Amino acid sequence: MTTTVHGYPRIGPNRELKRASESYWAGEIPAAELDTVASNLRRGVWETLRDAGVREIPSNTFSYYDHVLDTALLFGLVPERFATVADGADGLDAELRRYFTMARGAEDVAPLEMTKWFDTNYHYLVPELSPRTRPRLDSTKPMAEYTQARELGIETRPVVLGPLTLLLLAKPASEAPEGWRPVQLLADLLPCYAELFRQLAASGVQQVQLDEPILATDEGQAELAALERAYTELGEVTERPEILVSTYFGSIGPDALRILKHSRVERIGLDLVTAPEGVDDLAQVSGIGDKTLVAGVVDGRNVWRTDIARTMSTLGSLLGLVGDVTVSTSCSLLHVPIDVDAETGLPAELRERLAFARQKLDEVVLLGRALSAGDEEIAAELERARAVTDAGTPSSFTNRHVRERLEALGETATRGGQRRREENTTSPLPPLPTTTIGSFPQTTDVRKARADYRAGRIDQSEYELRMRSEIDRVIALQEDIGLDVLVHGEPERNDMVQYFAERMDGFVTTQHGWVQSYGSRCVRPPILYGDVSRSGPMTVDWITYAQSRTRKPVKGMLTGPVTMLAWSFVRDDQPLGETARQVALALRDEVSDLEQAGIRHVQVDEAALRELLPLRAEFRDAYLDWAVGAFRLATSGAAASTWIHTHMCYSEFGKIVGAIEELDADVTSVEAARSHMELVEDIAAAGYGRGIGPGVYDIHSPRAPGVEEIETALRSALRAVPPERLWANPDCGLKTRDYPEIEPALRNMVEAVRRVRDGL
Ligand code: GLN
Ligand code: ZN
Repeated sequence: MTTTVHGYPRIGPNRELKRASESYWAGEIPAAELDTVASNLRRGVWETLRDAGVREIPSNTFSYYDHVLDTALLFGLVPERFATVADGADGLDAELRRYFTMARGAEDVAPLEMTKWFDTNYHYLVPELSPRTRPRLDSTKPMAEYTQARELGIETRPVVLGPLTLLLLAKPASEAPEGWRPVQLLADLLPCYAELFRQLAASGVQQVQLDEPILATDEGQAELAALERAYTELGEVTERPEILVSTYFGSIGPDALRILKHSRVERIGLDLVTAPEGVDDLAQVSGIGDKTLVAGVVDGRNVWRTDIARTMSTLGSLLGLVGDVTVSTSCSLLHVPIDVDAETGLPAELRERLAFARQKLDEVVLLGRALSAGDEEIAAELERARAVTDAGTPSSFTNRHVRERLEALGETATRGGQRRREENTTSPLPPLPTTTIGSFPQTTDVRKARADYRAGRIDQSEYELRMRSEIDRVIALQEDIGLDVLVHGEPERNDMVQYFAERMDGFVTTQHGWVQSYGSRCVRPPILYGDVSRSGPMTVDWITYAQSRTRKPVKGMLTGPVTMLAWSFVRDDQPLGETARQVALALRDEVSDLEQAGIRHVQVDEAALRELLPLRAEFRDAYLDWAVGAFRLATSGAAASTWIHTHMCYSEFGKIVGAIEELDADVTSVEAARSHMELVEDIAAAGYGRGIGPGVYDIHSPRAPGVEEIETALRSALRAVPPERLWANPDCGLKTRDYPEIEPALRNMVEAVRRVRDGL
């Protein structure tokens, strides 16, 4: 039985790619130096895979920024505005300049839009296509990477995004006529894949991998005719390597499987971790003939060791259904950190339960050996692997007290409870109240104070002094600007999830567990490994301090249960809903402490509510049930006189509008600036009857909006929502901006509100 993985982290064990690309952008190193770093990183990955004993090694998984952008460039899918960006440069420099301009933009050229890669926290760049787009094979990257590996004596399988996924992830360019869809380019694109195959074959490539994760979504399932067409045509290309069609992030269902089975592709990859039902699908279509099944049985998205015994039995049943099985990961290992061995600070009991990318290679190899006849030497290794999983969850990871409390809450724990809802008269606010989303710019001083404290260069009292003086400044500024509901500015938080993870039991944070989020940006998700609880107040001191500096109400800031889970690696030994309720219970106590301390507004951010939404509509209700329940559990203990706010950072609400109402928050702030307030109408039309704070300007851009612009936005929102329920706020936190950018913007917002109020 042979072994493979779909891909490996490309940022480097010490984030070498991040450092090198940022230096290149800053003009500190030449293109050739960046290229050398990239080339060394590729070699490092191939050698790691080879030395681990993985038999079939992927290539072309390296990317300077994003693999969707790479694929767009491979086929010449470059919007016209980038045609001349690299004029004056040549060779590698010109190529990289155009590449990074598409990713990051330039002074006068907007970059491609960026959005989340399926239900992960990785972001890809959205190709823009129009009927005028003329796809052509325009890059040699897959051939070049293959050749580089081959010169090192390593045979590889180039990985390229498949045509269906590429087109369905693309968006129509602004010049495309109404109703035109990128998938209409399929017929023009397929010959380019055919040409790619010919060139790969000419370079000596034996096998190519085409990724089609879109099949795990409703959008992909609606295009099965295009799937059939694509793989019939590509299967018939005469000079070509063997084709592996790889799918992941969910079930592709029997229909898509049948289409692939009847095409001429040689291998089919299924994610059997996210979608164990793939085994039934295989049975339903009576196997896949003489094709090889690439069985994704080692979780590529989470950090837990594989249950070897259970997985061996899955592989056993697969062998009864299909002739040939290759052991693999469920998806690319891009989504997990590189090496557990680097985490020397973790308790042993936890560390032995973790597998990062490097350890997952060992698991894949072990499974491959375990299922190959005649390998007796591994009995001891198997025994060791089993011992860990067989031991189950260690008792030190559980907290009886939390479990008993949730049990005692009964219905409230699962449904979230009902808030008392008398009229909120205790804390009157003007119509169209103004506020912000929470964070204020994180200045160098603020970052330095946090770093100094962490490194022990300053003591706690000095640290608190510095944070308090920052809070003083932020409060004074907000009063001067004339905002109605103030915030403390979140200077003490490096990250909205990590801050709380560090203050709750059941979470750990890693030292080196970086995962690429987009481009050179990496995140270090905490690991939620056990029962979650709060040992004491997490935010009360900062918020009450801020409140002591002003007569205006100060809003407390918490991160909601779904977002805490979405941006962490979460235990997989119990349903997510169960884990979310534990987080919610800790937040419920925090809300109560804030109230006791006299805080009248509390915001529970659910930035990631949309992100965790299942890819398939059929699973959405179950998800929203526990997600909404957890939010309500966190907030339903609040008095009627307390304002509960929530914030979500995306504008595509169609699928969850009902759930927002169910959250039962008094005010929901959302990103709206880029959708011209249309979503306010959608939300109102769906019968939403509570407060809404549509972001009146886009904080993602450094440009300060003018008063008229904001006024127009507010007036248009007022057509759908009455002034008592309309709030004015920016569309997200201000953390990444500078003071010179946010000050005029907030002043203009307050002035716009004043003008609108005058006419009421
Ligand atoms: N309160 C957080 C902030 O302002 C919310 C951030 C977010 O939604 N991503 O930074
Ligand atoms: Zn936001």
